[in-house]
Amino acid sequence: MAQLSIRNVRKNYGPVDILKGIDIELADGEFLVLLGPSGCGKSTLLNIIAGLTDVSSGEVRVGDRVINDVHPKDRDIAMVFQSYALYPNMSVAKNMEFGLEMRKVERSVREAAVAKVAKLLQIEHLLARKPAELSGGQRQRVAIGRALVREPKVFLFDEPLSNLDAKLRVEMRTEIKKLHQRLGTTIVYVTHDQIEAMTLASRIAIMKDGLVQQLATPAEIYDRPANMYVAGFIGAPAMNFLRGQIAQQEGKLGISALVTAHGAQGPRFLPLADPAPQLGGWLGRDIVLGVRPEAISIAGTVEPVAQLAEVEAEIDLVEPTGADTLAYFSMGGATTVARIRPQDVAGAGGTMRFAIDLSRSSLFDPQTEVRLN
Ligand code: ADP
Ligand code: MG
Repeated sequence: MAQLSIRNVRKNYGPVDILKGIDIELADGEFLVLLGPSGCGKSTLLNIIAGLTDVSSGEVRVGDRVINDVHPKDRDIAMVFQSYALYPNMSVAKNMEFGLEMRKVERSVREAAVAKVAKLLQIEHLLARKPAELSGGQRQRVAIGRALVREPKVFLFDEPLSNLDAKLRVEMRTEIKKLHQRLGTTIVYVTHDQIEAMTLASRIAIMKDGLVQQLATPAEIYDRPANMYVAGFIGAPAMNFLRGQIAQQEGKLGISALVTAHGAQGPRFLPLADPAPQLGGWLGRDIVLGVRPEAISIAGTVEPVAQLAEVEAEIDLVEPTGADTLAYFSMGGATTVARIRPQDVAGAGGTMRFAIDLSRSSLFDPQTEVRLN
């Protein structure tokens, strides 16, 4: 049985549809990340789960219990906000205890719960302080602690790290991951940061305009994006999109595309080693080939794989990022970026041969933008 079920949840404010039918089933202990651009409805969905916002239609369940009409404090759900929302006049201990007090939990039980969580989060030495006397990271820890003492069945986070500086954000990210591994609580975590999503999630729901575009593991979202939106949203730099047609040569299916620099030599045939059967029906039709920057290398620098297609192109720009280097070139009229080893471009310039690993590519329908293979 799913721990958290969101079934055809819709939300509108007057004539404006914010959530347009969301379906998510979460197993016990999952870490779901809701990822999407600002305004796509992530916080609205989280607030609906928390009970802070009503649905317009649809159902939210925890276990086998429909909680649409259950008061937030009775939901077995705790939420951590971006703004921490700590009570400024209360000590850290009191902040953590307050929710339990409201639920009429006995004092000795409350104190034991606070002590246990404070130890877990290593904030025992802060218990007597007021929020103003804490750093941003410490406040965030207290906000997490306050949610933890309730021992919720489901834990909600709304962009909990976005007010922290970059270094602290990475540290807290690791801590949240460890916390989840230790406690095994079901988590729904909102962010617009794709690295947070990739590193934390057991599954990611990519949202856009009030709809879930894809709900899958980070690896599947990255390697097999369901559509061009997801493909372009995840990964930095973004996946390259190249236009072409499905073609056949010597009985093999492949892609015919203008891949040489400036398209001077006409289309090339790039054979697909393992084409999906339904691609046969696409012969002669336009497709979009999606290739991640790391699937392109300088020819001769990687082990040959079955589906290496080599193209020649003039490098327009080189960007060293430290661990690897980004090389920009024009392919079929589109700016294309390859993530290559720094040593492979030392002294580069002019024209180079690139090797594209087609076994790691995606094919999309240019009309619907949906994945084909
Ligand atoms: P996200 O968290 O993904 O950035 P939100 O869920 O906060 O997005 O908001 C989604 C959309 O709903 C936005 O366009 C926002 O302006 C709108 N919205 C949110 N709350 C309300 C409200 N109480 N009344 C009207 N519109 C709202
Ligand atoms: Mg939000």
